[in-house]
Amino acid sequence: MNYLIKDARGVVGNEFVSDIRIKDGLIDELGTSLEPMAGERIIDASQCVVYPGFVNTHHHLAQSILKGIPAGLNQPLGEWLASVPYQYWPKITPEIMYNAACLGFYDLIRSGVTTCADHHYLYHSKTSPELEAAVWQAAEDMGIRLVLCRGGATSKGTHKGLAKAGVEPESIDQMLKRLDDSYSKYHQKGSAPMRKLVVAPTSLIHSSSAQDLKQLSQYARSRQLKMHSHLLEVDFDQQQSLAKYGKSAVEFAEECEWLGDDVWFAHLVKANECDIKILASTKTGIAHCPTSNCRLGSGIAPVIDMYKKGMRISIGVDGSASSESGSMLQELNLTWLLHRAINGANSTLLEEVVEWGSRDGAALLGLENVGTIEVGAAADIVLYDIGQVRYQGCHSILYSPVLCGEPVQVKYSLVNGKIIYQNDNCLVDREALIIHAQQSFSELLKRVNHFNPLFI
Ligand SMILES: [Zn+2]
Repeated sequence: MNYLIKDARGVVGNEFVSDIRIKDGLIDELGTSLEPMAGERIIDASQCVVYPGFVNTHHHLAQSILKGIPAGLNQPLGEWLASVPYQYWPKITPEIMYNAACLGFYDLIRSGVTTCADHHYLYHSKTSPELEAAVWQAAEDMGIRLVLCRGGATSKGTHKGLAKAGVEPESIDQMLKRLDDSYSKYHQKGSAPMRKLVVAPTSLIHSSSAQDLKQLSQYARSRQLKMHSHLLEVDFDQQQSLAKYGKSAVEFAEECEWLGDDVWFAHLVKANECDIKILASTKTGIAHCPTSNCRLGSGIAPVIDMYKKGMRISIGVDGSASSESGSMLQELNLTWLLHRAINGANSTLLEEVVEWGSRDGAALLGLENVGTIEVGAAADIVLYDIGQVRYQGCHSILYSPVLCGEPVQVKYSLVNGKIIYQNDNCLVDREALIIHAQQSFSELLKRVNHFNPLFI
């Protein structure tokens, strides 16, 4: 199906455009008063503004059924990891994973996302490949573009919560073999693939030895795969790196060949001036996840300083166990507000925040033909309904979704020229989504022996 989007009230990056022609999955023509061609379906955008789909560069879909776990509500990262993800993730079955992924994708799509980089870390020595397959399948069924950042660990690490969960890490040979199996089965090449694999040990400092990390970076680069991990979310990374390796966390990353324009890290809340200098000079990127960093009391990443020094900035939602809204729109709104509060009213421009959340995120993921509205680009496009009462009176029409924040109303969302969301409906039946999520929720509680009907 080809489409002609007509009469939009604004199109990001295109000041004098109201109409967009979409042909064979690509943006074919931009202009005003475009005439429909034979076989095209017209999409009325007269009450809409049009954005490139947002590119979420850090998520944990498995956490979509771990929202608001009572034990973790008021804990900082270290304790929260033990109470929430480490306690629950070893009990997640492929079916629970599939339902959690669909739920997470729904939250993201509803908030304007068309590409998700999911940091999937449910791996141990006896992991079933069906767990990972469930994430790929959910993306297929929901129609979203997926970059699967393949997590996991090759050493036990020092966290008591993980030791208590009783899972044995993979050996480096096992991880590399399974990575290569996934590469052969799922990874697509090109400038706008629907499926990409990324090498992404869960934590750069805690998951693997320096030698294993070097092997992983060499593997990634031999296959032209991007690299991703958590780094410097809290001070503990810096302390551990200094104690274990006698160097800062970023220096350790450098030694392990884990810096470069093919690498981006989640959080970097505690990056200091020296770290930023090294990260910028190597063109390493960040997935800035402000809601999660606020929720866990970790702090605020110095993103404006990073941007000024030349680092590559992108925005991530992080998992819904520490960012319960699962909303990319909220992340953009919060990014805009937070950094103004710290750096002053002229420090953070809406235009820049939108670029970090779309074009720049896509570039970090290696999706060269995604994240912008221009002729020849993949048609990953979101139409926001600004005819709603809450937008009336807003003078900055184009930026009103980001300015006004949630609740946002997506009227249409397209990925590769295909409609994946329309007026509150996604490709998977909404009632089924709710029923399956509730079944998985109950099943998971039973499996961790904490079944308590009061929490349902
Ligand atoms: Zn994370």
